[in-house]
Amino acid sequence: MEIKNEMIVTRFPPSPTGYLHVGNARTAIFNWLYARHMKGKFVLRIEDTDAKRSTQEAIDAIFEALEWLGIDWDEGPYYQTQRLEIYNSYIERLIETGEAYYCTCSPEEIETMRQKAMTSGGKPKYDGTCRNKELSNIEGAVVRLKAPLSGTTIIEDVIKGNIVFQNEELDDFILCRSDGIPTYNYAVVIDDMTMLVNTVIRGDDHVMNTPKQILIYKALDCPLPVFGHVPMVLGTDKSRFSKRHGAVSVSAYKDMGYLPDAMLNYLVRLGWSHGDQEFFTRQELIDVFDLEHIGRSAGVFDPEKLLSLNADHIRATLPDELVAPLKPFLKSHGIEVKDSDLIKKVIETLHARSKTLEEMAENALFYFVDDIGYEEKAAKKFLKPAVLEALRLLIDQFEILDNFSEENLESAFKAVMDQTGLKLGKIAQPVRVALTGKTASPGIFEVSALLGQDKVISRLKKATRYIEDKG
Ligand code: GLU
Repeated sequence: MEIKNEMIVTRFPPSPTGYLHVGNARTAIFNWLYARHMKGKFVLRIEDTDAKRSTQEAIDAIFEALEWLGIDWDEGPYYQTQRLEIYNSYIERLIETGEAYYCTCSPEEIETMRQKAMTSGGKPKYDGTCRNKELSNIEGAVVRLKAPLSGTTIIEDVIKGNIVFQNEELDDFILCRSDGIPTYNYAVVIDDMTMLVNTVIRGDDHVMNTPKQILIYKALDCPLPVFGHVPMVLGTDKSRFSKRHGAVSVSAYKDMGYLPDAMLNYLVRLGWSHGDQEFFTRQELIDVFDLEHIGRSAGVFDPEKLLSLNADHIRATLPDELVAPLKPFLKSHGIEVKDSDLIKKVIETLHARSKTLEEMAENALFYFVDDIGYEEKAAKKFLKPAVLEALRLLIDQFEILDNFSEENLESAFKAVMDQTGLKLGKIAQPVRVALTGKTASPGIFEVSALLGQDKVISRLKKATRYIEDKG
């Protein structure tokens, strides 16, 4: 079979049995980036033939995670369960050409063969009982590939180099089960072949499947795609990254307030390099991504590194563009703000000091709530009788200001410093606690200007009452 297809076509074929794991997301990202870099095509395929484990919720979760990551597809989503006729038609062809055969051996017989092979020191495998029987499609029969008995099958892996398999180690494996459902290896080949996929980048947990798939391509007389197997993502203890190490689903990072571009950047860097550059925008990745620099050794998922990269991405994003992503985080704290311009201004004060959108929302709360609470330690340390006079003078100054600009606020502070002989820090910290409830916040003039005259004065008055009551 001749496939004329010069354009790079990659694919992502998740099995919808749960959320999208960051390791799988990384495979999707590699394929997507390569397709975008090469101006090729990226195909999405849902491998849902395992009826017991596939769920609609998982399919929805995968779509949602991909959309959040900004991974779009040019073709699909295809569903394997809707393609059974296609798999069947190629089974017929393989039977006709003698490349496959029906087998009626019972599970018990197969078990006996496997045991026999193992007791004589070999690998458990099918012994070829039905290989030359030329059986027809009787009920209960499976279809097996007539695999070569000798020679080698080689994966020319673009990441790992050549991997050689002895054909005698592979048996006449099943292509189609007795209920008509294709096996993973068979369906994948038919799909990749008919979808004109010519570049297959996947996790190296599939390395053992690839020689079987190569044999199917050969049986169909179809050119092989380029294969590349990426090492698994590991946790800090060097075992496969799992729940024990932290959040593993892409959506968990979305919910924690990570930016999709940061996640994308982090996952790509986890298995690919471009010199020692760590920070990449999405477009930069599309411009420079290649298969040559996918690493051979496994990347370790380091949540701290991801967090700091996220902070870098937040800092590099225009406040305007953070307004919409921040809104759901504010909402989860009960804050709904219609005025996007106000949110933008709030972000301007916070975006150099927030590692996640969730942290930014928490730090933004004091701008929006009616009644702020004081952190206990902060109030104890700074809201003391010694600052009462300064706070009162400041209230007087603020009340006569026509324009509550940062400049005017600074002058008002200066006047109070002169009147009381206190240094700026001695006044600013209590004011900070009075306005924000905390000892750390954006610059005090910035915060005051943004809160506005009324709120600032009423919060300062509240602080003076608090001191009086305590005192
Ligand atoms: N459905 C398989 C998986 O999710 C696809 C593997 C492949 O890329 O061929 O692991």
